[in-house]
Amino acid sequence: MISGKVALVTGGTRGIGRAIVEKFVANGAHIVLTGRSELPADLEEKLRVCGTEYRFVKADSALAADAEMAVKTCIDAFGRVDILVNNAGITRDGLLMRMSEAAWDDVLNVNLKSVFNYTKAVQGVMLRQRCGSIINMSSVSGIGGNAGQANYAASKAGIIGFSKSVAKELGSRNIRCNAIAPGFIETDMTAGLSAEVREQIAKTIALKRMGRPEDIANVALFLASDMAAYVTGQVVVCDGGM
Ligand code: NAP
Repeated sequence: MISGKVALVTGGTRGIGRAIVEKFVANGAHIVLTGRSELPADLEEKLRVCGTEYRFVKADSALAADAEMAVKTCIDAFGRVDILVNNAGITRDGLLMRMSEAAWDDVLNVNLKSVFNYTKAVQGVMLRQRCGSIINMSSVSGIGGNAGQANYAASKAGIIGFSKSVAKELGSRNIRCNAIAPGFIETDMTAGLSAEVREQIAKTIALKRMGRPEDIANVALFLASDMAAYVTGQVVVCDGGM
């Protein structure tokens, strides 16, 4: 579906981002992926044998200079950026009463400012190409709010407003921008939940299970591809019917 296209995926080393990277290369895309840590050896091995090209950039999404470096790596290697997936994200949960300024700033910088950083950095490239698909990872918390996640929910709601605005600003140049709002997905981010809490959550989900990273990667593949050529400014909720 995206054969020969060039995708830049932030936070592509683990969880949802990694599933997106694997899905995209399986569908023929060349990839630049970022993360703060090293590229995991097993992912490196998978990427080496996949038949498309890849680059890994150690970059902190909260830093504008790192975003520019990642985009430059993409341009130097492939000459274009067809797809940007702003996926990197963190949580620093806690009730507002106990939430520190640092916990607010960290989450807003990594989750929301990063989306600004990367979108700014690819904008000129996509404008020249007169095409592009930008996919921003929001959350159901950004739509409905969640006790103990005021910082996280604010960052994810901000991503929705940002995505809809960018869709309106860049639509005339054939650049699409959409958000995905995952529900509870089995990754390191949710690994700390007890079995009891998981069971409670599963009961509130129509499909009676937590999501898998691949469930989100499938939505990202659709939004990245020309199958979604007339879809922009949308929030695709992928939560098993919570
Ligand atoms: P995860 O398993 O914790 O993985 C997070 C990824 O983001 C890792 O690759 C990590 O790389 C990267 N990352 C974190 N901080 C970064 C930074 N400052 N700069 C660059 N990369 C950074 O999380 P996940 O569950 O896959 O979540 C992915 C996205 O989906 C997030 O935006 C999250 O908010 C959203 N989401 C998740 C769920 C869920 O239930 N899991 C639900 C709704 C939305 P390093 O390890 O190298 O730092």
